[in-house]
Amino acid sequence: METDCIFCKIAAGQLGTEFLYESDEIVAFRDIHPKAPTHILIIPRRHIPKITDLQEPDEKLVGRMVTVANILAEKEGLKERGFRLIFNCGRDSGQEVFHIHLHLLGGRPFHWPPG
Ligand code: 5GP
Ligand code: ZN
Repeated sequence: METDCIFCKIAAGQLGTEFLYESDEIVAFRDIHPKAPTHILIIPRRHIPKITDLQEPDEKLVGRMVTVANILAEKEGLKERGFRLIFNCGRDSGQEVFHIHLHLLGGRPFHWPPG
């Protein structure tokens, strides 16, 4: 755990964040500044700063994160109408929190290409 990482603290339960999903490896919670009616962040408990830091053994973890996104999208009633999954990585993407997180966004139409 990185002591100065906000998502490590959330994953460790130190901030009292409500989890929509939790397992040994993964937690999911609502974004504090939602960009859509549904805006959930799915994160590994382990501190991995960026997508480019992932190693081959992490493939299962990332696959499980997408499965969790599917489970939560269905719970949020988004399965039929659709939703968006986003990993920001690095400066050009606008990544602000350097602990990987999968954004699950839904409940409104999104533009393509993104801004
Ligand atoms: P990024 O731009 O790094 O991909 O997205 C980081 C996201 O984390 C932003 O959407 C931001 O609103 C969210 N966020 C930052 N700090 C907190 C926090 O303390 N709690 C929660 N729930 N979300 C946070
Ligand atoms: Zn962290």
